[in-house]
Amino acid sequence: MAETMFNKVALIGLGLIGSSLAHVMRREGLAGEIAGHARSSETRAKAVEIGLVDSIHATAAEAVLNADLVIVCVPVGVCGAVAADIGPHLKPGAIVTDAGSVKATVIAAMAPHMPDGVHFIGGHPIAGTEQSGPEAGFASLFEGRWCVLTPGPGTDPAACDRLEAFWRACGSSVERMDAEHHDLVLAITSHVPHLIAYNIVGTAADLEEVTKSEVIKYSAAGFRDFTRIAASDPVMWRDVFLNNREAVLEMLGRFTEDLTALQRAVRRGDGEGLQELFTRTRAIRRGIIDAGQDEAVPDFGRRGEIVPPE
Ligand code: NAP
Repeated sequence: MAETMFNKVALIGLGLIGSSLAHVMRREGLAGEIAGHARSSETRAKAVEIGLVDSIHATAAEAVLNADLVIVCVPVGVCGAVAADIGPHLKPGAIVTDAGSVKATVIAAMAPHMPDGVHFIGGHPIAGTEQSGPEAGFASLFEGRWCVLTPGPGTDPAACDRLEAFWRACGSSVERMDAEHHDLVLAITSHVPHLIAYNIVGTAADLEEVTKSEVIKYSAAGFRDFTRIAASDPVMWRDVFLNNREAVLEMLGRFTEDLTALQRAVRRGDGEGLQELFTRTRAIRRGIIDAGQDEAVPDFGRRGEIVPPE
């Protein structure tokens, strides 16, 4: 067990990310006290019932009182409003971070509400599942995954080091990166793949009328793996696309060009071109497995994430 790193940690948002943080902080003894806030009384009651937090608060402002570390784990579209609520109540010297999947717009929305003497550093754990809510979390979510921190030019190096040490104690590897660069990288590795999954599942749902449930019956042929991604939280993902518009459109432009080329290859019967691409993509999958970011077991190796290991 690691040493207590912060006397009091406040979690604002107690869904998949917030509850996973609560579990890992408890397991590793990282926080002297965990205070929590979520929007609905249902989530707050559930958080108490399953013992996620030591204290639960009806407002974010109350939850952050005297906290040394505040982690905002709400959909990116409401991070600015949460920052406005908590700003006047933050303890001098506190570290404030977030878990949002988009960085530049979230930082622009949160930073102006951070008082002098409070260290605000954007963050994004590259770890997740398609589940949401306070019961979705598990302590090993961040293990072996990357967490990106996006300090700005004025960030206090000591505060950033402390936050990095915290994420490492949660099991993550940490990389520091420019917020805009993060958004571009995540557009292609996460946001566009989700958009593609939402699209293909939507198209198949429209076809369902025609195919009379054969889409579901034969889903193991490949479709099923898209449905897992397309089952991700609608509000979270709506906010991601509203907040990372430019980078997503840039990557979507490239994707569309490549898809058109692929369409042409299929039409022309260009077997050599198809095989060459499929060989290259297979190597990328191998690279992901070699890097420990997935397992080479069937079902895309997701079982360990769907059934939280205890
Ligand atoms: P989630 O499971 O849907 O939970 C969101 C939490 O935020 C809920 O507790 C919700 O409360 C609370 N919330 C929503 N609006 C709020 C508001 N205005 N004030 C206070 N609390 C509010 O979402 P999540 O998956 O944990 O995602 C949280 C953040 O982490 C998002 O920014 C997301 O982009 C990022 N992230 C997600 C993943 C992933 O795979 N899911 C991975 C990395 C990063 P109620 O339950 O009461 O509605």
